[in-house]
Amino acid sequence: MSFDSLGLSAELLRAVSDKGYSTPTPIQSQAIPHILAGSDLMGGAQTGTGKTAGFTLPLLHRLTLSGRASHARRPVRALVLTPTRELAAQVGESVVVYGKYLPLRSAVIFGGVKINPQLQKLRAGVDILVATPGRLLDHIGQKSVDLSQVEILVLDEADRMLDMGFIRDIRKILALLPKQKQTLLFSATFSDEIKQLSKGLLHSPALVEVARHNTASERVSQVIHPVDSHRKRELLSHLIGSNNWRQVLVFNRTKHSCNRLAEQLTTDGISATAIHGNKSQGARTRALADFKSGKVRVLVATDIAARGLDINQLPHVINYELPNVAEDYVHRIGRTGRAGNEGQALSLVCIDELKLLNDIERLLKREIPRVIFDDFLPDPSIKAVPINNGRGTNRRPGGRDHSANRAANDNRTHHSRGGKRSHAAHRS
Ligand code: AMP
Repeated sequence: MSFDSLGLSAELLRAVSDKGYSTPTPIQSQAIPHILAGSDLMGGAQTGTGKTAGFTLPLLHRLTLSGRASHARRPVRALVLTPTRELAAQVGESVVVYGKYLPLRSAVIFGGVKINPQLQKLRAGVDILVATPGRLLDHIGQKSVDLSQVEILVLDEADRMLDMGFIRDIRKILALLPKQKQTLLFSATFSDEIKQLSKGLLHSPALVEVARHNTASERVSQVIHPVDSHRKRELLSHLIGSNNWRQVLVFNRTKHSCNRLAEQLTTDGISATAIHGNKSQGARTRALADFKSGKVRVLVATDIAARGLDINQLPHVINYELPNVAEDYVHRIGRTGRAGNEGQALSLVCIDELKLLNDIERLLKREIPRVIFDDFLPDPSIKAVPINNGRGTNRRPGGRDHSANRAANDNRTHHSRGGKRSHAAHRS
């Protein structure tokens, strides 16, 4: 992907190019379109991911569009709050660098320095104000700043602002802003406190989260269900039905298998729809809307179709077929357990997929626990295939000897169709 395709103005693209950036970072390519479209946004990203440009570029774009830059007395139209003066200075610098071809004015205000130069700057009028909460409140107290015209609010490193005890200051500032505005919240972590803050502040936010490379979130519980390939669909329906799951994203490798599975689930009485590249944009939007509203319980997707999906609080992801590329597994399960919520990722794995499973476990550097449903086990005549580089072998499916083929640190549980059967399956 290039910067050109994001929809930013020529002036901004020129500034980006002057800076020497050729491709947007993941947080930039994901966040910029949402911000340009006017959505509120919850961004899970740490410093170093390129998040500053991720919000600064579209913020500048939108301010230019809303076009009041020529007013002599410029009201503050974008407010960026940061926890520290270093970060404020850094963001302020980005605003100057990316906005160098635009007729916008900005100021950075933080404590520990004289207030007079800041007063002068504010008096002259600024479009974009970058501030730490304490010093901003000083200015508010002196009536040197008017926040009643703010169109875009950014809370940068919100978790750090709360850690530093700024919540009351932030709330005081928020009370002075117009209700109608676009709010972007960036945080490296999503504590209960952050969730609480965002609940009152963000309206239907787009959620953009960049995981550190190839690490699966600890909030996602992962499990493998070994199963005969012919029984997968039955097991899937059983899992969804018996647990009464209402919102499940299911992954398949091909468009064709997505369609077929969605049809079969519907036949089983579980409302499902498929989403993939062969569907028109309209059909995809409708499928997603139905899934989000709860009209359909299951969305069956290919890896590519799922990339652009924006679904908050998705509780269950099921790999009906493992991906061919191990990294895609991490992307898939990263669709759940977002924004501090718990998530569950299940993989239905048949004997043909043990090599793919092996690749995934090698990438994750750990073994994923197996939970076996006796009723759905593969044909016992199928020979066990080694996994984990000889550290262990898969249980001989259907065999009665549960100990023979178990990896040293394996952790398996058996279920029967009627529910959990307590079983001496844990062994270390
Ligand atoms: P940030 O996470 O915003 O603090 O940015 C981290 C660093 O990445 C900063 O030094 C940026 O200048 C740099 N950076 C931001 N976007 C890009 C990009 N698209 N390509 C290369 N470097 C970038």
